[in-house]
Amino acid sequence: MATDHGVRGSNPLQCEFLILSMMIKTVVSGPFETNAYVVGCPTTKEAAIIDPAPESTKTIVEIIENEKLTPVAILLTHSHWDHIADVFKVKKHFDVPVYVHERDAENLRRPGADGMPLFGPTEAVEADLFLKGGESISIGDLTFDVIHTPGHTPGGVCFHEKDEGILISGDTLFQGTIGNLSFPTSNSDDMWQSLELLSHLPPETKVYPGHGPATTIQNEPWLSDAKRFFGGQ
Ligand SMILES: [Zn+2]
Ligand SMILES: [Zn+2]
Repeated sequence: MATDHGVRGSNPLQCEFLILSMMIKTVVSGPFETNAYVVGCPTTKEAAIIDPAPESTKTIVEIIENEKLTPVAILLTHSHWDHIADVFKVKKHFDVPVYVHERDAENLRRPGADGMPLFGPTEAVEADLFLKGGESISIGDLTFDVIHTPGHTPGGVCFHEKDEGILISGDTLFQGTIGNLSFPTSNSDDMWQSLELLSHLPPETKVYPGHGPATTIQNEPWLSDAKRFFGGQ
């Protein structure tokens, strides 16, 4: 399935001032219906591939070719198997650097190191850049601020494009719910803090999660009080 974020105009009567918005395409794949994303700068055509999920490579390559994009990075929200299974294949195809938070890097280097089962053969990858949170990653004219959001995993991050008002939230925040906290490396207290942090983003921010449909910050009013809503899980 592929969806297009499309084009927006500041004023339909002044189409010469039409502003092209960031391209974002969703590729749903693998046994857990993980969302991989291809995000592209409309002016430079540079692109990033986010979370190459199991069996997502073919569709990702098709999107990149059809849209005539130049991939410059693979960005990972975290290193659970369903978000990294095709990193090796995508990296081999496009020869671009892989970015992962330093606290999630080990499971990329040694798949299964996080104590989670592997649901298919997974080739190890050494990341090229290790994130801490607070960095900004340029993809053409787009800028993704890295927000460290531990909880679901220690090195979970969200990628925030402020000007476009878009957040790629991985398994930290889904529409109406949050990522599983019962995994070996999960930490509930970290998660409540991470969600509280996200509650301060502009309300209209569109959120593209690791599974399921997109949402917005204002559609998730429980974010600042997540422990009360989800603390019993
Ligand atoms: Zn996960
Ligand atoms: Zn996931």
